Amino acid sequence: PDKKPNCPWNPKIDRSKSIHTKQDWRKTNAKILPDILAAVGNTPLVKLNKIPQKEGLKCDVFVKCEYFNPGGSVKDRMALRILEDAEKSGILKPGGTIIEPSSGNTGIGLALASAIKGYRCIICISEKISKEKEYVMNALGAEVIRCSVSASSYSPEGLFGTVHRLSKEIPGAVIFDQFSNPGNPLTHYDTTAEEIFDQCDGKVDMIVMGAGTGGTVTGVGRRFKEISPQTKIICADPIGSSFALPESINKTDVTFWEIEGMGYEFIPTVLDRNVIDQWIKVGDKDALPMARRLIKDEGLLIGASSGAMMWATIQAAKDLKKGQRVVVVLPDSIRNYLTKFACDQWMEERGLKPAVNVNNHSWWDQNVSALEISVPQ
Ligand code: PMP
Repeated sequence: PDKKPNCPWNPKIDRSKSIHTKQDWRKTNAKILPDILAAVGNTPLVKLNKIPQKEGLKCDVFVKCEYFNPGGSVKDRMALRILEDAEKSGILKPGGTIIEPSSGNTGIGLALASAIKGYRCIICISEKISKEKEYVMNALGAEVIRCSVSASSYSPEGLFGTVHRLSKEIPGAVIFDQFSNPGNPLTHYDTTAEEIFDQCDGKVDMIVMGAGTGGTVTGVGRRFKEISPQTKIICADPIGSSFALPESINKTDVTFWEIEGMGYEFIPTVLDRNVIDQWIKVGDKDALPMARRLIKDEGLLIGASSGAMMWATIQAAKDLKKGQRVVVVLPDSIRNYLTKFACDQWMEERGLKPAVNVNNHSWWDQNVSALEISVPQ
């Protein structure tokens, strides 16, 4: 495992010291894991049996259930890697302090690793992020600082402005900066992409992801361009975000979207838009009811951005044929949104339908009427 080449797109980065490569990842086949961090990655790939069929897709759709990670999201992989990279390079010292801007899931991943390894963890999140994520981070012992959602990210009240100020106030604090840290896409290049390729025995026609930092789509996209260049890489982007290409499809008056963890008004350093074959813009009214369908019809206890990815899949996979395969990466869990899109009242207040039942209640109707008939008069 120490013979790994340097990072392929930035030869200055030494990958040989990273433990998170395909080979090492699989060593966790042990019956008893040494700690919960060893349970990061190796998430299940699951076939969808109702939504694609109901929507008229002919191809098979498989979902990569990243909410099975111990902190509940895809970001556990990356958080653990950038933290351990910082330990190895010596910038993070025992008992040190971490400050990180996050939409909450990286924060949870870092808070989890910090709880186990004994670091002080300060996470900056926007006001729009759910209380649920804040409570999880607090329970893990992290400090959470809320930043303005309306101010630009770089202004003093914004996400990065606040991180910058705190780093000056707290001597010795380390910022990993997932938005520019090469370990972010590299995590997905080394693990998420390899797992998808293996789980599909190398036969994947399309992968649908979203972008917040762009780490997932960049890492998975770069790896697939090497090992399976015919696989189409699709990226969902919220209406209001500036990531998509061509630029013209980003034009809108929308400046706020409910989907957390996806899209910004700037392009993150780690996001390589060259690996993306097609962008699909997604609105809250598309994503949130679709997230509820994934829960109700497929039993997948996912978060809102998963609804965006699924909605994008239905658009992007229309022309795929029987036997072709799509993998959709589902980033996080319903746990983060119990008082938001998971709550019927919250949905109804926004004019959104909580769920559509693909079975039309036929079993229920038949059985309830049977019961009614059998009641003695
Ligand atoms: N969905 C959710 C819920 C997220 O928290 C994130 C991470 N910000 C993403 C999607 C996008 O992941 P990435 O940062 O790797 O682009």
